[in-house]
Amino acid sequence: MLSEQIISRGVSSKIVIDAMMKVERHKFVPQSFINSAYDDSPLPIGEGQTISQPYMVAVMTEYMDIKRGDKVLEIGTGSGYQTAILAEIASEVYTVERNRALSLKAEKLLKSLGYSNIFFKIGDGTLGWSEFAPFDRILVTAGAPLVPQSLPHQLSDNGVIVIPVGDKFTQMLKIIKRENGKFSEYDKFFCCFVPLIGDQGWMENK
Ligand code: SAM
Repeated sequence: MLSEQIISRGVSSKIVIDAMMKVERHKFVPQSFINSAYDDSPLPIGEGQTISQPYMVAVMTEYMDIKRGDKVLEIGTGSGYQTAILAEIASEVYTVERNRALSLKAEKLLKSLGYSNIFFKIGDGTLGWSEFAPFDRILVTAGAPLVPQSLPHQLSDNGVIVIPVGDKFTQMLKIIKRENGKFSEYDKFFCCFVPLIGDQGWMENK
């Protein structure tokens, strides 16, 4: 998976590659998809949601440019696979998932795997997690119509947000950087994520 799907497409960060080597994707997919666990694609995880494509997990993590010691906010825990990759690198990961069943399942799995630096919340991640702000890095793993206005306010100086923004079918993967209080935005490439549903995201069933 790493050499054919990730390194060959240009992901070169050692810290990211080491984390991806360590976290076993087959532990995060339903039993019925075990044989496809290392395929180059997203996979269903129940509740109408997906575990992201391995390449997408790797490249988003590389764009975050996480430093050891960073405090990271993740919106969209899903299976917890990306959460585990983040927790291998960052000091603390705060992850928010709106679907209760997925959040509880991911929490149980990640605790059983020994992660003690992950903090879970069931709720609307478009509002961020203000009690623990500011965050050094923020990752949104669902497609947003616009950058939720709460998130830049919860980003520390020299912080980075990685977020897919667009319509419900195609989004642009964006990197937003904060330096000396000023924000700059960079477009990377088109991608396709499940919708970010919430107060500052898409309305449900619309
Ligand atoms: N990175 C995850 C993984 O590795 O399994 C996949 C995340 S999945 C593509 C996107 C997740 O975002 C879904 O589980 C969905 O329920 C969640 N989500 C959508 N809107 C949300 C919101 N406002 N707050 C928190 N989670 C949200």
